[in-house]
Amino acid sequence: MTVDRERYNESRLLDAAYLQFDIAAEKLGLSPGFRELMKSGQREFTVRFPVRMDDGSIRIFLGFRVQHSISRGPAKGGIRFHPAVDLDGMRALAALMTWKCALMNLPYGGAKGGVCCDPRGLSPAELERVTRRFTWEIAPLIGPDQDILAPDVNTDSSTMAWVMDTYSILKGYTVPGVVTGKPLEIGGSLGREAATAQGCVFAIREAAIVSGLDLEGAAVAVQGFGKVGFHAARLMAELGARVIAVSDSRGGVMAEAGLDIHAVRVHKQETGSVEGAPEALPITNQELLELPVDILIPCAIEGQITSRNAPRIRARILAEGANGPTTPWADDILAERRVFLVPDILANGGGVTASYFEWVQNTQKLFWSEEDINKKLDSVMTRAFREVYELSRREGIHMRTAALMLAMGRVAEAKRLRGVFP
Ligand code: GLU
Repeated sequence: MTVDRERYNESRLLDAAYLQFDIAAEKLGLSPGFRELMKSGQREFTVRFPVRMDDGSIRIFLGFRVQHSISRGPAKGGIRFHPAVDLDGMRALAALMTWKCALMNLPYGGAKGGVCCDPRGLSPAELERVTRRFTWEIAPLIGPDQDILAPDVNTDSSTMAWVMDTYSILKGYTVPGVVTGKPLEIGGSLGREAATAQGCVFAIREAAIVSGLDLEGAAVAVQGFGKVGFHAARLMAELGARVIAVSDSRGGVMAEAGLDIHAVRVHKQETGSVEGAPEALPITNQELLELPVDILIPCAIEGQITSRNAPRIRARILAEGANGPTTPWADDILAERRVFLVPDILANGGGVTASYFEWVQNTQKLFWSEEDINKKLDSVMTRAFREVYELSRREGIHMRTAALMLAMGRVAEAKRLRGVFP
């Protein structure tokens, strides 16, 4: 079986996920039956539900929860609120969660869910009602041993608190382990909020070592200034790097000498965007991606680096804080240009790893110190990085293909050992 690139459309996230899968499946030599089984997800749930808006009207929302795999443990993955949420996108992102959890060697499958909506057009009370009703709709599928939710694009610890509360009310007792990324006061974990970025920075540190790059003074550009992007920029600056550009969905700012990340954050808190932050020049998202930096960290959404702009990417290291920011078509161009890629399932795997730590603490009803958590996170990230890097060197393949081969190999082995029922 060969990989047929012509079948796939670069502008569809699911096609990108399928093409990445095919490339790794081919290298792994997976049998056709196993390929089909692992490529398509296991369970897909679509819900339409009404929410009463502040003006008294009723609006119908469309939501999804896709459980791509439960072979290695409960399904695990975030929920997002975004106008682009659709079933195909959830399928792709749920599969990425399966591979990410397997690569990090966590006892989880993979899932993703979301509601198609623009949260910027909803009041806080409306957002809470959307969250609670969506939770109620998917409640038959979720639980600490079935499917564990977490924050993703446009959702945060408050969203998780509402999910946890709604689910607990349905059960009649408090169930902290149904979500991760919740506030500390109700069973959240120290270090979870910055964990995706912290894990990404640990991976960047390893990538810099193997690439012979000194992080002190290294030029960094970060796309996205939310839960991942802000902390990535902050942590890189704390390591002595020069964060010269950051952006959010409205636009970006740059300063050659390095931005004051905390000042940019204050500006975003006051105005809603990093745009117009003091002592910085305006820059578009496209321009940010093409800056001549040492390290580029896309931390926004998928499909940002494609075959169209990849020839102009000038970073030495590209670390994917976001899920799916680079298409496989762009991967080939970046590899030719010798950009060192730290793929999403590795670069942002620190988030779900800290989620796992939170879930374990919930199960044990015993809490760990932040120092302990960061030490454990560092060792998981470093081990995963080295495994991927060694395989990529040994086989002469892309870092993404190596990461997927390791992850898919683990899932295939779990499926083989468990066998086919009946
Ligand atoms: N949404 C995050 C991700 O894509 C975190 C998932 C989780 O912690 O379950 O990795």
